[in-house]
Amino acid sequence: MGTQPVSPLRPAPGVPLAAGLPMPAFRRITVEPLSGACGAEIGGVDLSRPLDTETTAEIMAAFQQFLVIVFRNQDLTPDQHKSFSRLFGELTELPQAPTYNGDREMQEVRREADEPVNVVPSFEHFHTDSPFLPQPPKCIVMRALDCPQWGGDTAFSNAYLVYENLSEGLRTLVDGLQIIYSGKDIWRKNESLPPEKRLRLRETHGFSEDQLESIHPAVRVHPETGRRAIFANTAYFKRFVGWTEEESRALLDYLQSQAQQLHYHCRVKWQRDTLIVWDNRFTLHRGVHDFIYERRHLIRTTVMGERPLGPADWKRAG
Ligand code: MN
Repeated sequence: MGTQPVSPLRPAPGVPLAAGLPMPAFRRITVEPLSGACGAEIGGVDLSRPLDTETTAEIMAAFQQFLVIVFRNQDLTPDQHKSFSRLFGELTELPQAPTYNGDREMQEVRREADEPVNVVPSFEHFHTDSPFLPQPPKCIVMRALDCPQWGGDTAFSNAYLVYENLSEGLRTLVDGLQIIYSGKDIWRKNESLPPEKRLRLRETHGFSEDQLESIHPAVRVHPETGRRAIFANTAYFKRFVGWTEEESRALLDYLQSQAQQLHYHCRVKWQRDTLIVWDNRFTLHRGVHDFIYERRHLIRTTVMGERPLGPADWKRAG
């Protein structure tokens, strides 16, 4: 840390941007951006085999810039899926997400052909996964086993761009804010719903009550580049520290409305053996449940993130 933060707020004139930054050069992999805002399809790699250092470094560079990287036709065993995931960091469990096949290091997102759309948590809003944890996930590595013929995409929104396009006045305000996120009441809330409205949640976990509630900065700073992004979303949100719930909701609604804008998005169509790695710190995501009478089954690992740094933490470390 301590280097000049990368800031696309004042780009060099005449230089085209991809995901807010100039397009890097890649030699070992092919990188095809999915939109101007985020996401890239990566070619030329077989993730079932160990990767050499240069290829790994290029994949990490693509991940850092595009935030969502997509690999096609990756037929991996759970062990191969996990060893690729560990290139990004240590694997972690989640208290609320159902595990895959009894493996505590893997989770699944599953909607059977005869199930209603709401069975998968948080389908309706852009969100980040588990922001209530002290160290929310860095990234998710997800692979499709079954997907609808049409529909069931996953959409992403680039939270750096949301921040960078706010006015200087609003950026200064949110820079100083902190948020209380809590996952303490999701099981109780779910129990109170009629059975057909309930989410599929994990039934038991080893997390303590304390680990289910955290205070995090509303603006998150990348620990290496210093680039800033909005880290505020409706999932598990309680309020801004020092603000009432009503005041908090008004500002959150505005920030959330900005994240809905199409020019911050990319959208990935799943096929069997598509594998996506997405940055859970600097993007929002949501499944698009525009299908019915088809099965959608995605399996994933979750990589542990750092404790979120805010602008003040970055300055102190400066
Ligand atoms: Mn999610």
